[in-house]
Amino acid sequence: MLDVLIRDALVVDGSGAPGFRGDVGVEGDRIAAVGDLDGAAARRTIEAAGRLLCPGFVDPHSHSDFTVLANPTAESTIRQGVTTEVVGNCGWTYAPVSPASRPFVEARLRTFTYRGPVEWESFADHLAFLSRVGHSQNLAWFVGHNTIRYAAGVLGREASEDELRTMERYVAEAMEAGALGLSTGLEFDPGRAAPTEEIVRLNRVVGRYGGWYASHVRNRDAELQRSIDEFVEIVRAGGTRGQISHLNVRHRTGAAPGAWEHAVATMARAREEGLDVLADTTPFRDGLGQMAGILPPWVLAGGWRAACRRLRDPHVRERLRGDCDRYWRFIARGDWHRIRLQASPRHPGLEGRDFDEIAALLGRDHWDAYFDILADAGPAIESLLLVGELFTDEHLAEMISHPLFCLGVDGYTASLGGELDGVAGHPVCFAGHVHYLTHHVRERGTVPLEEAIRKMTSMPARHFGLAGRGEVRPGFAADLVLIDLERLDDGSTLERPLAYARGIDEVLVNGVPVVAGGAHTGARPGRHLARR
Ligand SMILES: [Zn+2]
Repeated sequence: MLDVLIRDALVVDGSGAPGFRGDVGVEGDRIAAVGDLDGAAARRTIEAAGRLLCPGFVDPHSHSDFTVLANPTAESTIRQGVTTEVVGNCGWTYAPVSPASRPFVEARLRTFTYRGPVEWESFADHLAFLSRVGHSQNLAWFVGHNTIRYAAGVLGREASEDELRTMERYVAEAMEAGALGLSTGLEFDPGRAAPTEEIVRLNRVVGRYGGWYASHVRNRDAELQRSIDEFVEIVRAGGTRGQISHLNVRHRTGAAPGAWEHAVATMARAREEGLDVLADTTPFRDGLGQMAGILPPWVLAGGWRAACRRLRDPHVRERLRGDCDRYWRFIARGDWHRIRLQASPRHPGLEGRDFDEIAALLGRDHWDAYFDILADAGPAIESLLLVGELFTDEHLAEMISHPLFCLGVDGYTASLGGELDGVAGHPVCFAGHVHYLTHHVRERGTVPLEEAIRKMTSMPARHFGLAGRGEVRPGFAADLVLIDLERLDDGSTLERPLAYARGIDEVLVNGVPVVAGGAHTGARPGRHLARR
């Protein structure tokens, strides 16, 4: 007797093969059978004629760990059919925590509206805490290099030998707890002060466990090539597999013509050499970024108190106006209309607005408004986010269709009707995955449907060793999504960002219905997918 029988669906199985009409049977947490299951008995039957059945989406680059404690039912992403998220990216996690880093970690959690206890220290404690809370989606974890540096108290400078050993121990602890590997965010403080040798040492620990290195690389404009060369060197020296996070070039930031093509060719050569490296992209011209990322390292040296004090000093501000040409370099070029404030609990009325509006509302010039908001953040100074208009349509299309790119979103799961509304005011949190299908497949024809789904399911699942997931195949985990392609709609738009996607009717995670008839069931069957 099957637990669930999904009848007469258009099955797109995640392998890239053409879709076919068929039935899928689920027993417990597994797919029991695929094909013609006429006459099979089942406790629940879903008549799926005219609808698309595919594996639950696997996001290779998510930040849903930012919000999972405030939103353990993963509302906005599970309603898009995202059943597994690879999290802990760009160097940021909420563990490990030391006495030195506790204010930073707590401020970050509060920024993302979590009000509960923060009682963990090690990575394993953190995962145990999460499993007690429960979550709707499966999570596979990187441990963040920035967070490790915070915990070791290494801010704005190189580490001593003792501190390096402490950091190696943190990486080993996370790997013992089942982490996939180490992530870096080398455009951000404190990670950007790390020399290559530090990351090589930490990644060697990852290599001993057979893990992965994922990197938001040091630079993606004038220094892109050097950054990709550094990435390959770190992967090679550590003996790990690797993922180049959101490998893109931002519009009007000074990258030489052909820089992206050259970087991608370097990745392809590394693969020929035998290194298992891939990249990912995001679905929108807009993307999330860190507000403090444009500040020079000396502002943030010594921690948030000193940074906020410096940011209020008029002489420092004068100097900074000429020394913020890094990270999103179009800001230094005066493209203020291209950035919106995403998260700032101290300024709820400004969230979602662009900096032309914000400057006008505050009656300040753009730079003073920017520095005021940062200085007001206190220990959350490095948690404030911007949404920027980053890419051209042409660049998005070449990344989405490239064979070495998985499709991710680089957002975080949100929910409606609560505090998270305030820090989720962009479709990236509500419709990123669906947007691949509605916009890039249906409207633009950038990639065929089967190929888009493969890049959103089996490709990342295989790359990250998530065995038995990402395909509709007997014996695989019953992570399944039933989509009404005719009704499929982003739901949210830039003008009206707070809405769930439409047309995702049924979502099973480990065989358990999390979305049924288009509504969330409240179930939290998600698991920690430990490294295998
Ligand atoms: Zn990143």
